[in-house]
Amino acid sequence: MKIDLANLTIAKAHEHLKKGDFTSVELTQAYLDEINKKNSDVNAYLEVFKDALDQAKAADELIKSGKGTLLTGIPCAIKDNILIKGRIASSASKILENYHATYDATVIERLKKEGVVFLGRTNMDEFAMGGSTENSAYGVTRNPHDLERVAGGSSGGSAAAVAMNGALFSLGTDTGGSVRQPASLCGIVGLKATYGAISRYGAMAMAASLNQIAPLARTVTDCETVYNIIRGADAKDSVTITDDTYPKKRIGKKKPVIGVPRHFLSGDGIDKDTMKAFNASMEKYQSMGYEVKEIKLPNISYALMVYYIVMPAEISSDLARFDGVKYGLHIDGKDVIEDYFKTRRTGFGKEVIRRILLGTYVLSSGYYDAYYNRANAVRRMITEDFLKAFEGVDLIATPTAPGPAFKIGEKANDPISMYLEDIFTVTANITGMPAISIPCGTSRKEGKDLPVGLQLTARHGDEKTLFEVGKEFLGE
Ligand code: GLN
Repeated sequence: MKIDLANLTIAKAHEHLKKGDFTSVELTQAYLDEINKKNSDVNAYLEVFKDALDQAKAADELIKSGKGTLLTGIPCAIKDNILIKGRIASSASKILENYHATYDATVIERLKKEGVVFLGRTNMDEFAMGGSTENSAYGVTRNPHDLERVAGGSSGGSAAAVAMNGALFSLGTDTGGSVRQPASLCGIVGLKATYGAISRYGAMAMAASLNQIAPLARTVTDCETVYNIIRGADAKDSVTITDDTYPKKRIGKKKPVIGVPRHFLSGDGIDKDTMKAFNASMEKYQSMGYEVKEIKLPNISYALMVYYIVMPAEISSDLARFDGVKYGLHIDGKDVIEDYFKTRRTGFGKEVIRRILLGTYVLSSGYYDAYYNRANAVRRMITEDFLKAFEGVDLIATPTAPGPAFKIGEKANDPISMYLEDIFTVTANITGMPAISIPCGTSRKEGKDLPVGLQLTARHGDEKTLFEVGKEFLGE
């Protein structure tokens, strides 16, 4: 049977594997062929694993023995900051260029149990800092929809891998939008679950109070399938939650009620076609019988500022471990202090250094109260705003990003305009609430129709509503 990768989903591939229409070896080979054709242009993968076909062979055995599950034999791609035992995990940084993981992340352990096929590790902004994958030490990832444009970031490689038909699903990490924004720019689905829903054990630390491992796939159903396997309490990550952590609640009698913070969507920084696609999505929901109403989030305009204080503060501490002694690169100086300076200055890229400096500054004794403490107080106020809004609605809708994929180099030298990419996504990380990005239309730029995403945020622990409403929108 000819495998139609462009229209394949996990659900369909599983049926075919079960019926014997094709084997996992054949499916994996089809992906490897596609990667071979496209990766030199797109640069989604930093490494394609040589044993992918061996993994597929083992999966075929499992399927034959009748022990296969939904994910058995399904080829996937993993972001370069999630540990797979024995393989390189470099976080797209020079400082970890040859670092081999010594254990499996919990999510990897769970995927291995299902018998998935790991095709390779994907490109990203160094240590997940960025929104375009231009901060990778190993070259930019290009958007499969237009090779002159970015794929988004920081999980740009994971999004591009799925969008170029180079994997059926992928994992990324989302600290401020790093899965949802590239999903939006590449025309696929990305889910950032409730904080604590998915174990972070084995994900390289990037702002631990905000970060989550997160799935990307072509359909909402596929995202849900992966989510259901990787989620759940884990003794190795003390912040993980259980199904009972948050109460179940629903306002809408028949359908969930959708709230739109119009006051936050009126600025001229939002691309016109993106807004058009967003408005059309709201009309589509209304025509499907949903109530869509306006809500107020009084402190939402501070969210980006809060994020860009809390996140670097945590980073400056998270990245202290890369000292040239414990992991990766080591450069000799005249004493240990000079070792640190030389190793870190050589091993880290510009954006990483900028954030460590910013973080160290906002945590310094003279400024701690003025910046870090104040940002945390405002973080609580923003969370309160969302909790209050959820007394009247079940979902909050915004565009995922202010525009479609931008040109490579367009924002690279302007950190503030790059940080503005995160304006709609950081709130889910700040509040810990789950949010999904689903493709909702296109924006026309220079004769090309580029994908844009719709972001839906739900109450803590209510991924179910995101899946339900997302599936209704996409029809799968
Ligand atoms: N673009 C955001 C940043 O640069 C998001 C990063 C992330 O989610 N890892 O911080």
